[in-house]
Amino acid sequence: EKEEYIEINSLIENSLFMVKQKLRNLGINVINDLDNHPHKIVIKCFPNKFEQVLMNLMSNACDAMKDQAKKDLSIKVFINQGYLYISISDTGTGIPEDIKIKIFDSFFTTKPKGEGTGLGLSIVKNIVVEHGGELLLESELGVGSIFTIKLPTSKI
Ligand code: ADP
Ligand code: MG
Repeated sequence: EKEEYIEINSLIENSLFMVKQKLRNLGINVINDLDNHPHKIVIKCFPNKFEQVLMNLMSNACDAMKDQAKKDLSIKVFINQGYLYISISDTGTGIPEDIKIKIFDSFFTTKPKGEGTGLGLSIVKNIVVEHGGELLLESELGVGSIFTIKLPTSKI
């Protein structure tokens, strides 16, 4: 696969499509910031890999909201001081402090056997780094989590 110039909107739409059934089954409300963006941002990326990143973050967000009363999945894109940020936030369980450092390890999962491989976030992180970016995490127990992809604007 080679790097291509692709609109972020289409990467997000394709990723949402891949988790469509899960969103529907769990009754998750999607708030896509880009629906109100008149300008389309184009990024240079490996499209299949980048969609895999977004899809994994969305899928984890869904899992974290399974038993919550409020189920909002929000997608935001913004540019600040030479960086492009793409954030996926949820109103899920949040991540306990002692677990935050482990979640990016291969095979670390808190999901029941057969439901999680623990590979999602380690793959996500590798792909983001391969794109010259960083993966940021903010999470508060009982409030939710925000995973943010930070890319240098040389990618746009
Ligand atoms: P898996 O989804 O197969 O468990 P991941 O690598 O995708 O593997 O995630 C590892 C663990 O990180 C999950 O089992 C879960 O405990 C935690 N996690 C990931 N994303 C979230 C999230 N949005 N909210 C709460 N916990 C999360
Ligand atoms: Mg996962």
